[in-house]
Amino acid sequence: MAGEPQADCLFCKIVAGDVPATVVRETDSVVAFRDINPQAPSHVLVIPKAHYPDAASLAAAEPALAAEVLREAGEVAALERTVDPGYRIVFNTGSGAGQTVFHAHAHILGGRGLAWPPG
Ligand code: C5P
Repeated sequence: MAGEPQADCLFCKIVAGDVPATVVRETDSVVAFRDINPQAPSHVLVIPKAHYPDAASLAAAEPALAAEVLREAGEVAALERTVDPGYRIVFNTGSGAGQTVFHAHAHILGGRGLAWPPG
């Protein structure tokens, strides 16, 4: 069923507590934890606890939960003090765009200058 935990999903295992993560914030519906391979001084992932393979499928099935991920991204940026001068929210979608974990997640990157366009 859509949104149900998947046995072979790494981020579902983090949600369940079966794989360790450095959690910075948690609500009933989302978890924010530090990326294990940070690409910026502040690099946090925000994931919905429910399993959807990418951001678009999450938004299509549960728009309020997708909004909660974005709201939480702002909370993370405030906590990490990256609101000023700025931070970036990234949803890699599809292997060609660098998605390696197929459980929707927002990268929240900040703490250094961020070039545009991204690579
Ligand atoms: O967008 P993408 O799917 O590549 O992002 C997955 C992210 O999950 C990577 O940045 C990777 O470093 C991170 N990761 C993690 N903890 C793990 C496994 C992967 O933070 N145990």
